[in-house]
Amino acid sequence: MINAHTALYGIIGNPVRHSLSPVIHNEAFRRMGLNAVYLAFEVSHLQEAMRGVRGLGVRGLSVTIPFKTQILPYLDTIEGAAGKIRAVNTLSVEGQRLVGYNTDCSGALEALEENMELVGRKVILLGAGGAARAIGFGLKEKRCEVVLFNRSRNRAEALAKELGCVHHSLSSFHKMDGDVLINATSVGMHPNEKESPVPKRILTKGMVVMDIVYRPVRTRLLQDAEEQGCVTIDGLEMLARQGAAQVLIWTGRRQEISRIREDLRRVLAAGRTEPGRKPFFVRDESGNKRAMKRC
Ligand code: NDP
Repeated sequence: MINAHTALYGIIGNPVRHSLSPVIHNEAFRRMGLNAVYLAFEVSHLQEAMRGVRGLGVRGLSVTIPFKTQILPYLDTIEGAAGKIRAVNTLSVEGQRLVGYNTDCSGALEALEENMELVGRKVILLGAGGAARAIGFGLKEKRCEVVLFNRSRNRAEALAKELGCVHHSLSSFHKMDGDVLINATSVGMHPNEKESPVPKRILTKGMVVMDIVYRPVRTRLLQDAEEQGCVTIDGLEMLARQGAAQVLIWTGRRQEISRIREDLRRVLAAGRTEPGRKPFFVRDESGNKRAMKRC
């Protein structure tokens, strides 16, 4: 029940209507019996949105493209890994202070560590955008040998310099040799489901392959990796864990990853962005009832 005491959380980004974060958080609030709601805000002017955060008493925000770095000047404190990464995906309003965190980093690392001992491994990291950046800094903390591959050279060069690692073009497949391969590019994402960032032949038996793309969940890369006998980790693993870390920051309470994963799978399978809701009906010109998808 939403009432005059309901606490407001949300996500700011642009675009943001595809986001699964409202599913993660509203379901978590419901399970915990909290009087809180989480909404998606498609923001055009960050400065105005940030005035609203303070002015309206918003309790916390997820931050997504293109604001993860743009938000830094508005924060009073940056906690943990976010300081080194210089990117924030979580804002928590703590008293009068706006505190920034990065849960993409911990989300990805926890998903990997669930499957392997990460320290000291050689990791092929594909991508040099926001997500690759968060993951790259996390891998460095774990003393991994990171080899970065990206389409555009400038971005790769800049990130590789910060990470202190080597970089190559995304098409240098012959140099892709490692224990772990992480796709942090958007290649393979809907509507380009047939694409994979790498040819199947470079995926070798026993390699751990993580794709952070989650639409679709079983990407072409993961299908190829499975066929080659690799250990595979899909994008929902990172998504669920970064969301659980946000819930912990905002409420001090832990959520089971399996429950969050279930919520996400259910919503994705139904092609909706809301869990558990029945289709609604409209009448066509002949007066017949037709089910419509809620998206
Ligand atoms: P960015 O826009 O910051 O970076 C995009 C990256 O993908 C860049 O490295 C870019 O290369 C590369 N890229 C995009 N299109 C192509 C292409 N056609 N061919 C080769 N490379 C390409 O996005 P993010 O880093 O925030 O997100 C990347 C992906 O990760 C998205 O699919 C996003 O949905 C997913 N994601 C998943 C999360 C999860 O929890 N599972 C969390 C965050 C993101 P270039 O530098 O050359 O442009």
